[in-house]
Amino acid sequence: MEDLQSALLERGLTVSTIPEKGRSLVTTRDFSPGEVIISQEPYASVPNNSSVDSRCDGCLKSSNLKRCSACQVVWYCGSTCQKSEWNLHRLECHALSRLNKDRQKSVTPSIRLMVKLYLRRKLQSEKIIPTTPADNFKLVEDLVSHMSDIDEKQLVLYAQMANLVNLILQWPEISIKEIAENFSKLACNAHTICDSELRPLGTGLYPVISIINHSCLPNSVLVFEGRLAVVRAVQHIPKGTEVLISYIETAGSTMTRQKALKEQYLFTCRCPRCIKVGQYDDIRESAILEGYRCKDNGCSGLLLRDSDDTGFICQQCRLLRNKEEIKQIASELNFLSDQAIKSTSSGHYQEATSMYKMIEKLQTKLCHSFSINLMRTREALLKNLMELQEWREALAYCRLTIPVYERIYPGFHPLLGLQYYTCGKLEWLLGDTEDAIKSLTKAVDILRITHGTNTLFMKELLIKLEEAHAEASYKLSSKMSSKIYPLDYFCKIDVCYH
Ligand SMILES: [Zn+2]
Ligand SMILES: [Zn+2]
Ligand SMILES: [Zn+2]
Ligand SMILES: [Zn+2]
Repeated sequence: MEDLQSALLERGLTVSTIPEKGRSLVTTRDFSPGEVIISQEPYASVPNNSSVDSRCDGCLKSSNLKRCSACQVVWYCGSTCQKSEWNLHRLECHALSRLNKDRQKSVTPSIRLMVKLYLRRKLQSEKIIPTTPADNFKLVEDLVSHMSDIDEKQLVLYAQMANLVNLILQWPEISIKEIAENFSKLACNAHTICDSELRPLGTGLYPVISIINHSCLPNSVLVFEGRLAVVRAVQHIPKGTEVLISYIETAGSTMTRQKALKEQYLFTCRCPRCIKVGQYDDIRESAILEGYRCKDNGCSGLLLRDSDDTGFICQQCRLLRNKEEIKQIASELNFLSDQAIKSTSSGHYQEATSMYKMIEKLQTKLCHSFSINLMRTREALLKNLMELQEWREALAYCRLTIPVYERIYPGFHPLLGLQYYTCGKLEWLLGDTEDAIKSLTKAVDILRITHGTNTLFMKELLIKLEEAHAEASYKLSSKMSSKIYPLDYFCKIDVCYH
């Protein structure tokens, strides 16, 4: 821990203990927006491979993959990744090869992550791979496991998983109890590794990044460059401030966020947004995000539950929305959503699009215009329409989501930047150069803070913006020349000179 403290101090950081929160990462100097606070390679990581979707164990890429010929479980994109992973995979490969085909099928990404965690500890303790202050098993031991808060059912599941790990490793010296506790640690501390567009690729354990606590109004953001976890400041962070990222999707109401945090991370958030729970502002916000709209189409009032529980009353015009009516629409919505999800996952995008349009119609009747559910439906429509290459309609839906994004996310949020990027790409494709420049500029302004400017993803975005600018000035100059030199002007010159 002392080694880690001095390594962190060099970066302008320290680990402090904050009452009710435990370990926290605190700044010892100022950080400006977009600055990298800390970055870390995973202690152990795995791609989220399934029978239909495989990724390279080293870089998580999905193209040109070859399966390890010995174990037939792990994939690599080439010899560079295979070599860099070999020290550890050599042991894992041997262990996996011992299993019969049926058992191999039950080796899920979580099981592999645990196996790799133990193998890495073994390699480090035997000094086959080096340790550093930020890369050693002691840091994994220091992570919270919340074992006492886990229910019986979950404990049984962890014990079963631990049994399988034991069977794979065949190390008599480690106990099932210890492995089960480590599964609980992974559940609270491991991070989903995403690509630049926030699509999940795998899971990794980053013991130093795990020290960073959660806030629903964070001052920093965690993104990934390959497997490297990078935390950047999204606002000015003065010296002596706790570094905070968000563990969950922060778009929901306080109740929704608290529920998600309690279920997955086993704690109650007391961030500036969460302490407002029950106050008028918070109730109002929940009613907008997840509540119902007024029956009168012209009224923008929000609805609160009636005292005698017959329904919901508009706080502006006092009109009542009957509980039964709401229930009926909600059950129709549930049925349609199930169908739409099935259609999308089986690749029937046209069918899914018509379902989502019916859902949108019903939700427009039921929900507030800034409703999260309505926004999700429009996101789904955007995705399906892009699959169908219906660019104009996709753009219309993309534009509809942006005001909601702007309302629910802070200014520098990766999702807001990415949505502007999608909008800009569609506008560019449809030849709306002026609009594309506006959207791509907004995307750059946000994503340069959250993603930095060095990744291939950002370079591509910057090139697109440059191209759009070049196209606009070309259009402008051809417009100008046709204004100054209209066609008949040239004809007249022709006439004069000949
Ligand atoms: Zn690779
Ligand atoms: Zn292998
Ligand atoms: Zn919170
Ligand atoms: Zn009303």
